[in-house]
Amino acid sequence: MSDNFLTVNVVTPNGIVYDHHAVIVVARTTEGELGILPNHVPIIAPLAIDEVRVKRTDSDSHVDWIAVNGGILEFRDNVLSIVADSAERERDIDVSRAERARQRAEKLIEEAKAHENIDELRRATVALHRAINRINVSKHS
Ligand code: ATP
Repeated sequence: MSDNFLTVNVVTPNGIVYDHHAVIVVARTTEGELGILPNHVPIIAPLAIDEVRVKRTDSDSHVDWIAVNGGILEFRDNVLSIVADSAERERDIDVSRAERARQRAEKLIEEAKAHENIDELRRATVALHRAINRINVSKHS
């Protein structure tokens, strides 16, 4: 059956972060940017640490932004489900916390480089991406 909207759910261990009807959703998978329109073919893809943009059916031009920290996207039967370790809407992001996380991660990266600690470098780089993603998404609130 063909529809003119899709349903978007974003779920984390803390519960449902987002649940709306949309005309288009744009997300970044580990393979690149993906735009989902109603009636898209079924797909499952791992997500990058990045923003998800949702154009809702109930607003003319407004776009909701969600910082998604990895996870999995699944689309079928006009339902887009995103399951992530953590995800925050633009209005829920604590910018000063994200800024502190960014500074902490940058310091850890310098230390890890100095000690040639590859595991710590990888962890801190991921933490830096999470923080920068939150800072970028918060700018849309
Ligand atoms: P921090 O070092 O500030 O805890 P983090 O990247 O380690 O950041 P996560 O482990 O990804 O944090 O998330 C832990 C919980 O805190 C999740 O529920 C996440 O949604 C929330 N969270 C993390 N950072 C922020 C933020 N800047 N604003 C709002 N919620 C946040």
